[in-house]
Amino acid sequence: MSFRILMVAFATLMGALTAALPHAVLATGPTTIETNAVTFSNAPTWLKASRINRVVDGIQNVLEWDIRRIQAYYYTNASEFEKVHGFGPLVMAVSRKEDGTVHVGPRVNEKNFDGVFGHELVHVILFQKYKDSIPKWLEEGLANYAAKKGPVDYVALAKRGSLPDLHSLTHPFAGANPLASSSQAAALDHYQLSRAAIEMIASKCSLSELLQLSVGKNLESFLGTFCDIEDLNSEFKSWVKRKARAKS
Ligand SMILES: [Zn+2]
Repeated sequence: MSFRILMVAFATLMGALTAALPHAVLATGPTTIETNAVTFSNAPTWLKASRINRVVDGIQNVLEWDIRRIQAYYYTNASEFEKVHGFGPLVMAVSRKEDGTVHVGPRVNEKNFDGVFGHELVHVILFQKYKDSIPKWLEEGLANYAAKKGPVDYVALAKRGSLPDLHSLTHPFAGANPLASSSQAAALDHYQLSRAAIEMIASKCSLSELLQLSVGKNLESFLGTFCDIEDLNSEFKSWVKRKARAKS
């Protein structure tokens, strides 16, 4: 069974984890909000259709796509939500590729909703529009970038002895026990590196044109020809150093 683990990164502390689901456990509730893009069940009282539309519009504009309507669910009970994904208490929202559902946990509130839900909508559009065009190492970074979630701590990245091959970022919890603290730290690291990578790409070429070129193709095949990034990892090292110098 394939899982896609999705996490919303913050600069420092453990942030929001989101994961794809092994199976659907659907919460139902008294308030359902219906918009063009989302049927949102068990919506909390602070959530309104206008707010959902605002988040949807922002992400749709970046990725140039009208979402085929998805089902979203809000959970008020932490253990019920954790049972849905099995990736521990840090997970904030999960999306499921198979049926395009989004499940929003009780740590999502009036303050952080836009970033977390926007991040999930990027995954939804990648499923619906881009299929496998966007490499896995770029997916979480693109989701946070489009949802304006969390800056990259370039100074901390540059202080590390070495940076991993970006292609090794296949999955935030690749092969590890997702409940171990080391796995959670590695997952947060994944988000930082992936977000830094998308920022590098956006500095080199038009992201919207690159995304357009990539529909039905492999985005990575355009990095050299369109963005002038010949050697991804060495360009990335230089980028991190340059950004860290500018910030320190
Ligand atoms: Zn994600």
